[in-house]
Amino acid sequence: MHHHRGENALFTGAKTWVIASHNTGKIREIGDLIAPYNLHAIGAYEAGLDEPEETAKTFIGNAVLKAEAGAKGSGHVALADDSGLEVKALGGDPGIYSARWAGEPRDFNRAMEKVHAALIEKNATDWSARFVCALALAHPDGGVRVYEGFVEGQLVWPMRGQNGFGYDPMFVPTGYDLTFGEMDPAHKHAMSHRAHAFKLLVEDVFGA
Ligand code: IMP
Repeated sequence: MHHHRGENALFTGAKTWVIASHNTGKIREIGDLIAPYNLHAIGAYEAGLDEPEETAKTFIGNAVLKAEAGAKGSGHVALADDSGLEVKALGGDPGIYSARWAGEPRDFNRAMEKVHAALIEKNATDWSARFVCALALAHPDGGVRVYEGFVEGQLVWPMRGQNGFGYDPMFVPTGYDLTFGEMDPAHKHAMSHRAHAFKLLVEDVFGA
């Protein structure tokens, strides 16, 4: 499939995008990204949205599910993301269950210990892994577009660094020595799976 470059009027014609998330940091970051295109971002809470259950089997499936629920529930264009860590030796786990591996209440030290224990249990010598970010942009009239970004790397143990969140302290991106937990946040953000996915979205929707 191909389409031409330039503004994708289906999505840029709308003046407001709902960011289908309750994370205010995420909503502000996306708001800053789309502001130059005269688009205004509101969060799921402001739009009166509930969080749908993430019942799909893939990152893209879950992002689409959240974006479509957001668009239908609000009448606005909705953007949703889904992300996680895939470990090769674990057949892609924790994958879409990355947040769920941290239990309730969320404890990512425990989640990282589980990943480490599973690698030891398997006698795995290959500790390669990648972060994945899927974005879905849904129109209330039915169109949906998806974008996926990756960052490849190696897991390390023990965990290192206090920056970032989630599995950052045990992930070293390919070509670097520092974990995402040790890296300057701006540096991580410039090279992350999320940055790559957003670049694809901006190119596609705004033709930038
Ligand atoms: P989501 O909020 O349902 O997309 O869940 C994403 C989960 O994947 C987070 O809770 C983290 O555990 C993990 N994750 C996603 N992106 C990152 C990242 O950049 N660093 C560390 N962990 C991440």
